Amino acid sequence: MIKAVRGTRDLLPPDTELWNFVERKVREVFARYNYHEIRTPVFESTELFARGVGEETDIVSKEMFTWEDGERFSKAKLREAWLRENKDRVFIDEMDQVLVAGFAPIDLAVYPTDGSRVDRPLIELISLRPQATEADVSALIDASKRLVTERGGMLALKAPLLRIVTPAGARSVNSTEVEITQLAGHFFESVQPLTLRPENTAGVVRAYIEHEMGRSGLLQKLYYIGPQFRRERPQKGRYRQFYQIGAEVIGPPSAGSELPIRDAEVLDMLIALLHAVGLTGWTLYLNSVGCVHCRPAYNQALREALAGVKDQMCGDCQRRAETNPLRVLDCKVPADQPIIEKLPKIADYLDEGCREHFAQVRAMLDTLEVPYQVNERMVRGLDYYTRTTFEFTHGELGSQSAVLGGGRYDGLSEQIGGPKAPGIGFAIGEDRLVLALQAQQQQALAPLKAFIIPLGTGMNRHALKLARQLRAERVTVDVSDEGFRLKKSFETAEKLGATFAILVGGNEVEADAFAVKRLKSGEQTTVSRAELLEYLEG
Ligand code: ATP
Ligand code: MG
Repeated sequence: MIKAVRGTRDLLPPDTELWNFVERKVREVFARYNYHEIRTPVFESTELFARGVGEETDIVSKEMFTWEDGERFSKAKLREAWLRENKDRVFIDEMDQVLVAGFAPIDLAVYPTDGSRVDRPLIELISLRPQATEADVSALIDASKRLVTERGGMLALKAPLLRIVTPAGARSVNSTEVEITQLAGHFFESVQPLTLRPENTAGVVRAYIEHEMGRSGLLQKLYYIGPQFRRERPQKGRYRQFYQIGAEVIGPPSAGSELPIRDAEVLDMLIALLHAVGLTGWTLYLNSVGCVHCRPAYNQALREALAGVKDQMCGDCQRRAETNPLRVLDCKVPADQPIIEKLPKIADYLDEGCREHFAQVRAMLDTLEVPYQVNERMVRGLDYYTRTTFEFTHGELGSQSAVLGGGRYDGLSEQIGGPKAPGIGFAIGEDRLVLALQAQQQQALAPLKAFIIPLGTGMNRHALKLARQLRAERVTVDVSDEGFRLKKSFETAEKLGATFAILVGGNEVEADAFAVKRLKSGEQTTVSRAELLEYLEG
């Protein structure tokens, strides 16, 4: 049996109802804050993440699905090589068509062709393969035979990859006599390293730069919902394909993109969303990680403090202590924690601007009565963060307790080659949000109200008609099948969690009144079609 790959999973009904419910609420709430959806590709140049997220982060150094998308066929290279090899025997006409001037021994090259010399493609895509297959060989031979007869030996050639070398003077050939040679040279060019996106902020900022979205001079408020990919050890709440709901507010400084009000508004929107989906019991942790001006001094202090203790720390920390000491604070190895506790605190190194910015964000949150805790160790796992960073955790999630994380990234655009475009955003782990909602059993979903059971031949259409009528009144119903025995239909109704079963048999249709059974109590009543809605809702 072929199974879903480790770390990936199928989302099935009824869980998908909850996913859709969450996504509906996201669209509703974010729209009220004037956010608009952006969809970026699922894979990007590896360089985007290396430069954006940072080489030293866990994500980039260990968790990315990256591949070399090389070996792409290059027609131009092939043509050049072919011409080089055949320069005495070819000329190029004004149509840019390569013509063979003569050949001995019969030395055929056959190609996909779109030229006027040949009416239709003779061999499609043959030049796109590095090796010829048996099928290619016969196709080549067929085509060569046809060409020889149709053109009396004059061949219209375009971009050949393979040559069929046949015995000298032969007019027809069969596969055993044919030798296929590849042109000398490499016709496949290495293109670029690509990566399945491990997060979406870098992609959004790339799109912002590419489409010059800053030119309007306005703030761009963008949100996305989509899969992300990280090669991590799979466990509950941690998958290799997972889903994030994220939002970014980004723009030129003249649009106010750097101002603390943006940070407060983003957090306010998050709280509105968590409220709308019914998540309770979360904790918001807040910190400021400084900026390019004050971070170097803090990094220096960390390096100095780490110099004496790093030998007692894990391998990753020993390396980070040199390359990116801030990342040490992110370490999850238990034995390292007491050492990390004693390291210098970033709050003591913030410059005036960062301190003031953070104070204003906090003052606004206080006014909005947003509860939060400052956590000075929370630096987040991505290098692009500056100033405000935050994380929401939820007690029901066990060790994968972070439901969402985010922060400000004032230098990210410039880091990946764009204009100055400060911004702030977050990413919610949708898988974890759904898990938390399930755990607290707040499935704010319409449960199945009734299971309609057609009884006897010819009753399916009557059942469907009744179902349509109820659904039009926004009642959630499902329909059985007249081929089911009554007992099986009742069992199914119970498994589906329906409140009522409605029987649609010949007598019922005639009387236009239906036997309605309340599944929990077993109580059964006959209700006319006209009164049915009221009865079910009552
Ligand atoms: P963690 O510390 O749990 O690994 P993170 O700091 O790597 O999280 P971020 O990069 O900040 O996570 O991503 C934002 C959110 O995306 C996280 O808070 C989490 O809810 C979710 N998330 C991250 N990685 C995964 C994963 N592998 N599977 C499911 N959800 C994930
Ligand atoms: Mg992680």
